[in-house]
Amino acid sequence: MTRLAPFQLHQPDSVEQATALLTELGDEAAVYAGGTELLLLLKLGLTSISDLVDLKRIPGLDTVSVDEDGVLHIGATATHRRIERSPIVIAGWPLLAYVEGRIANIRVRSTGTLGGNLCFADPHSDPATLLLTLDARVTLGTGTTERTLRLDEFLLGPWETALERPELLLSIDVPPVPAGAGMAHQRFHVHERPSATVSCLARVEDGRIAEIRLAVGSVGHLAVRVPAAEAMLIDVPLDSMGEVLHAAGEASAVAAEPDTDSNGSAEYKANLVTVLVERAVRDALGRAVAR
Ligand SMILES: Cc1cc2nc3c(=O)[nH]c(=O)nc-3n(C[C@H](O)[C@H](O)[C@H](O)COP(=O)(O)OP(=O)(O)OC[C@H]3O[C@@H](n4cnc5c(N)ncnc54)[C@H](O)[C@@H]3O)c2cc1C
Repeated sequence: MTRLAPFQLHQPDSVEQATALLTELGDEAAVYAGGTELLLLLKLGLTSISDLVDLKRIPGLDTVSVDEDGVLHIGATATHRRIERSPIVIAGWPLLAYVEGRIANIRVRSTGTLGGNLCFADPHSDPATLLLTLDARVTLGTGTTERTLRLDEFLLGPWETALERPELLLSIDVPPVPAGAGMAHQRFHVHERPSATVSCLARVEDGRIAEIRLAVGSVGHLAVRVPAAEAMLIDVPLDSMGEVLHAAGEASAVAAEPDTDSNGSAEYKANLVTVLVERAVRDALGRAVAR
């Protein structure tokens, strides 16, 4: 690993100042929060920049709060560690706190942010898959403009998002978990980052699956919801779902478009997804029934 090349550090104290800097400095400038991805790329010589705009000094951008509609707002520079330990998240979105607490290691979690994870758009992300089943949205802005997108509109591909320069990610907005729902997140990893992630939210009424949300990530280019598999499972009686569940797992594997890489072959990952979907759905349903 090489040493960091010299750069100019800027520490704005508002979103307006940060985006004005990006406009003024042009494409050679980049924002960073925890720097766990960007500084690594710079050290490896995989990218070069003349100016770094540090977002961590912007007051209020790292807060975790709930509004009057029960929507959770996670500021873009909130670290994984802050989210994992937030009493608000633990109380209302316990699986999100649990998943955040299992990302990487304590060093990465203490500096890396959820915003940075989503903006970097590495396909091997735990929270991206989970947040899809939570119907999360993201708020982007420049300080003078603001827009909100669904997460699937924000994540466009590997290392590609809908951010339009000089826009910043401002917050991740998560609606309340529906009453009576059970949730599960399955991850499998060969290396540090996950090689397969499956998340599920499910609700049961009168012994049948009344609501189901399923997402698969980390096996292909993008974390995706799998509506075809969700449609197969909806209204299925719990006591006779075995075959349908296996078919839904296979449909999820097709929708996730696994590719062959150092984590395994596409065929291997498809089998993995089929198994993890079955486990995630059973876990989520078990938790829903136990409520
Ligand atoms: C060893 C290791 C293990 C890991 N394991 C896991 C794992 O198990 N599961 C998992 O999900 N992830 C894992 N990760 C990824 C980790 O979650 C991310 O590195 C971290 O969250 C990135 O946040 P950051 O604040 O450090 O991003 P930075 O490096 O600061 O930024 C990343 C990118 O996002 C941009 N950016 C950051 N914030 C904003 C913003 N507010 N608006 C616009 N652009 C922005 C930056 O310009 C940069 O391009 C791992 C990382 C490492 C290094």
